[in-house]
Amino acid sequence: MIAVAIRSFNILATRSTRAPVTAKLCDRYRVDAPVRIAIVGAGIGGLSLALALHEVGIEAEVFEQASKVRQLGVGINLQPHAIKVLAALGLLPALDRTGIRTRRMIYLTRRGQPVWDEPPGLEAGYDVPMFSIHRGKLQGVLYRAAVDRLGPNRIHTGQRLIGLREVGDGVAGRFERRADGETVEVIGDALIGAVRPAPPSLLSKLVSDTHPPMCRLWP
Ligand SMILES: Cc1cc2nc3c(=O)[nH]c(=O)nc-3n(C[C@H](O)[C@H](O)[C@H](O)COP(=O)(O)OP(=O)(O)OC[C@H]3O[C@@H](n4cnc5c(N)ncnc54)[C@H](O)[C@@H]3O)c2cc1C
Repeated sequence: MIAVAIRSFNILATRSTRAPVTAKLCDRYRVDAPVRIAIVGAGIGGLSLALALHEVGIEAEVFEQASKVRQLGVGINLQPHAIKVLAALGLLPALDRTGIRTRRMIYLTRRGQPVWDEPPGLEAGYDVPMFSIHRGKLQGVLYRAAVDRLGPNRIHTGQRLIGLREVGDGVAGRFERRADGETVEVIGDALIGAVRPAPPSLLSKLVSDTHPPMCRLWP
């Protein structure tokens, strides 16, 4: 059975301790009310976005389809442009506890012949390091920071986006709740998909239903 519950976000940027920043931001973008944002996907992209919005005083809620944020993946390299963003979010100490500051990057053939050899990050003259880190552990760093800063009730797991519609000046996202199969509708000023790949049914809806499209898409 599908039951529909409509609820508004319980988030209001004016509650933030950074309200003056929000006011400036709202003014800059001609928003005359607190902005409420729903982020779909608690991957590296969605969690980083939630933290970045929080940093400028805009509160967001994250909706993840998996029932739990599990630390999966392989080792990845975070280039200085990514680290610059994470450093601005105050995450350098957590990255130092979790990953390795990469001092040299060498690509070799399977016979050990060098293909590429260069100093990265600080060694290359950037003002931040490059990091080598396990993807899942990076996600863990971002998840813990998001839970700490946004609050545990702002990160929803087990909620899969299955549809959306425009509501006045805002948007309503329809989520299927994994626990009981019920459908919950969440209304906000914007819904940002940080999912890969973007569900084709939603992509085609966004492109066909709205002229011009209501968002730019990076599928
Ligand atoms: C083998 C490999 C090596 C890589 N190496 C590097 C590297 O060295 N450096 C680098 O910078 N990048 C690397 N990458 C890429 C990097 O891992 C990805 O760019 C990054 O993880 C993408 O993050 P994301 O948040 O966009 O997507 P994801 O991490 O995929 O997160 C998307 C989240 O959205 C959720 N979701 C999906 N659909 C829905 C829905 N309908 N409703 C609700 N939630 C939904 C998913 O469950 C998931 O948790 C590598 C990737 C791979 C596979």
